[in-house]
Amino acid sequence: MFEGIISQSNITTQLTQDIAEGTMPPSIMIFGEAYTGKLSIALEIARILTCLQDKSSQCCCTSCLQHANLLHPRLFLLGGRYFKQEILAYLHAIQAFIQYKKPIPISLFHDTKRSIYKLIRRFDSYLWENDDIRYKNSKNLVIALHELISEKFIIEIINDTVIQEIIEKTGDLAKELDNYVLNIGQIRSLLQYCGTIAQEKRIIIIEQAHLMQDAAKNAILKTLEEPQKNLHFILITTKREAMMQTILSRVRPYHTVRYTLEEEKRILEKKFRNSHLQYLASLLSPVDPVYITSLTQQFLMSAIKAESFYMTFSEEDSQLIYQYFAQFCTYMQQSIGKSQLPHAKKKICLRYIQQAFFGYQEYHQNPEILTYGLHQYIASITKDEND
Ligand SMILES: [Zn+2]
Repeated sequence: MFEGIISQSNITTQLTQDIAEGTMPPSIMIFGEAYTGKLSIALEIARILTCLQDKSSQCCCTSCLQHANLLHPRLFLLGGRYFKQEILAYLHAIQAFIQYKKPIPISLFHDTKRSIYKLIRRFDSYLWENDDIRYKNSKNLVIALHELISEKFIIEIINDTVIQEIIEKTGDLAKELDNYVLNIGQIRSLLQYCGTIAQEKRIIIIEQAHLMQDAAKNAILKTLEEPQKNLHFILITTKREAMMQTILSRVRPYHTVRYTLEEEKRILEKKFRNSHLQYLASLLSPVDPVYITSLTQQFLMSAIKAESFYMTFSEEDSQLIYQYFAQFCTYMQQSIGKSQLPHAKKKICLRYIQQAFFGYQEYHQNPEILTYGLHQYIASITKDEND
């Protein structure tokens, strides 16, 4: 059990023990910072709970095989996630292997497929009311994407054209979940469906569980209080403090911790099984370089136009900037270098970025404050560029 999960041994040891002794309650919560493998752990729990044989990671029972491809029919995935960035990072890595004519590692291929199904499974029909606009809009797209993946996303024949098509379609589908908050209709549909298959184990995983409509929270609360037989809830959140106390008191918490640099390296090596392809590995770092570059450009434009920082960036995007502040500063310097700003102003901006980076690196200054300050500063010195 949990052999595939690198690091997080505190939580996996505890979970292994709880599952072996049969003391894991039907409702649990996994909380911790972004990119600490919370969903991977939740999916492994789901696999173990529904395994038909010995629960080992190598098990090939029908249930485990379905989980391997995220196609298990009684696994339900809800809530938001950084789908687009994640899928893009994987697909770009595959593209790089194609471009350099290197064999695509099977584990990378496998993980890419899973990242796509993490998105597709959000649109399972049981999770939506029939007249929900997001569901209606996505129906045909989901069918097309599913076909595309099963017919053309095959390691021996994959090519750039197919990847491009997947990028477009997954991008369109992910867009359907923009500003999405789990609503009562979804919880109602799901619980209703679950009631009809009560004799089988059903695992419900909710990501970003702190972002739910109040009515949805209350509906879950009721179920957590009197769980249906064989129903398991795994709530995932980065913001434990934003969860309702009444929910917190009904779930057993498990805490993930940030990876060390050494662990991050091991994760990349495991995905590639090839440590000398460092460049390719860097493409799979949790943040996609292309994406953070585009955020940087957006940042610069919004500062020059003196727009509000908080209105320009979504919560997830600003978190990405804070979390990858060092990379952000590097890209920022490039963007400023290439910008239309007068030379003298470029120089001042670059000096300010250097200072911010120094403050972050040497004095552990808060990247959120530094980012905000940088935005204000650029806005103030480029003021007359707007006129
Ligand atoms: Zn199994």
